[in-house]
Amino acid sequence: MSEKNKIGWNFDNSYSNLPKSFIYEISPVPVKQPELVILNYDLADKMGLDFSNIDKEELAKIFSGNSLPKGTKSIAQAYAGHQFGHFTMLGDGRAVLLGEHISKNNQRLDVQFKGSGQTPFSRNGDGRAALGPMLREYLISEAMHSLNIPTTRSLAVVKTGENVIREKPLQGAVLTRVASSHIRVGTFQFIRTRENLDELNTLVNYTINRHYPEISKSKNNAYDLLSKLIDKQIELVVNWMRVGFIHGVMNTDNMAISGETIDYGPCAFMDNYDPGTCFSSIDHMGRYAYGNQPAITKWNLARFAECLLTLINPKKDDALKIATELIDKFDKIYEKKWFDMMKNKLGLIGDDKEDNLLIFELLEIMKKQELDYTNTFLFLMDQEIDDKKNCQNEKFDIWKVKWQKRLTKDSKKLMKVNNPLIIPRNHNVENVLKSAENNDLTPFNDLLQALKNPYTNQKVLTKYQSPPPKSDKKYQTFCGT
Ligand code: AMP
Ligand code: MG
Repeated sequence: MSEKNKIGWNFDNSYSNLPKSFIYEISPVPVKQPELVILNYDLADKMGLDFSNIDKEELAKIFSGNSLPKGTKSIAQAYAGHQFGHFTMLGDGRAVLLGEHISKNNQRLDVQFKGSGQTPFSRNGDGRAALGPMLREYLISEAMHSLNIPTTRSLAVVKTGENVIREKPLQGAVLTRVASSHIRVGTFQFIRTRENLDELNTLVNYTINRHYPEISKSKNNAYDLLSKLIDKQIELVVNWMRVGFIHGVMNTDNMAISGETIDYGPCAFMDNYDPGTCFSSIDHMGRYAYGNQPAITKWNLARFAECLLTLINPKKDDALKIATELIDKFDKIYEKKWFDMMKNKLGLIGDDKEDNLLIFELLEIMKKQELDYTNTFLFLMDQEIDDKKNCQNEKFDIWKVKWQKRLTKDSKKLMKVNNPLIIPRNHNVENVLKSAENNDLTPFNDLLQALKNPYTNQKVLTKYQSPPPKSDKKYQTFCGT
């Protein structure tokens, strides 16, 4: 057996067999001097891949695209999308899908390179990515996974040995991303522009077979698919709200039909509670601010519904009415899920008519007093945090007494599994990335390790629990493209 086969790759590429208009066959552009930065052995193991006998040089070749595993049939995927509300034709401009690896437990997983060179969809871009943003995606996507939030995952990062030119020259890198698929709302929008019913049916059926086989026999599968996606995306955004995650660029091309968090660009975690929190340097209007995420999710779902109208009902007016009614269910479902999530964070078991008030009063206090979102819940869980004095004031005490009366035997247990003790705080992420860019990966690995168990007390935690210094108030994130 060759070295490469010993790894256990098991490709079966169904997406590349879709009609030619969906894809463009292309190989990653080889890089000058690949060097492995990090490999996710835990994830590899879950995928049924064994890299233990492969030397670093060979690994660097594999994860840069200089030497492709057997069975790959690499493609760039076509898609479109609403970016900040404006419709654009897009596609993988700096990514290629190697194919679908079938894992040990029979899961079909996309293996994709990000930063792998130009494709016909690159527009004016260089098709490349920089080390900092790729390590950032690695760290945050893995953190999200450990927070029990659906997400794409990260298998490896290599440096390319080439510079990418942004505002200044940066080290180039390729990220290997693993996802249950890369089908996006934007994929449907792209097919819609082609006005080809066969292609639309093909995409709907393919998506259902891959992600929602339980509705494959339904009478109106387009309607059911919309309904499924509404549920999935609500579940996702409620989870984001739970941990204070701000995606930052919720364009329709960055919304996956699988319901996984995808495309970690300018994302960041909220520090002090404020629904208007928005870190992205390009989001001038706060379109994708923390508190807007549910409304944007609904807006994106409406764009998805538009793609399916002809299949939902051939009569235009009827289709519109049916789809609108379904989309309008969003608010009620979201509210209920969000409310349950907040109750879990506060350990409120069972129902009490005052719960609503309790939740909103706390949020108001947190906002007015600029309390740290994560740490406020840790304070309530009696965790030792260094900013606890912020929660010790008259207003908070009055609220806390009311809250304590509502607690039951299992409240703390419930809080423990819903409130992370650690999140990838922006200042910590920046610090470890800075070191990594200067060839010191130790701080990055330490933080990554701590983020693996966000609901478990660990010795190292305190180091990562402090809110940012006040001087960090103007923290900004960049797309890193
Ligand atoms: P993103 O902001 O990563 O979701 O990307 C939006 C679109 O821009 C996608 O079509 C990407 O493929 C494309 N894109 C982003 N960065 C680059 C780049 N450096 N070169 C070419 N295309 C890019
Ligand atoms: Mg994207």
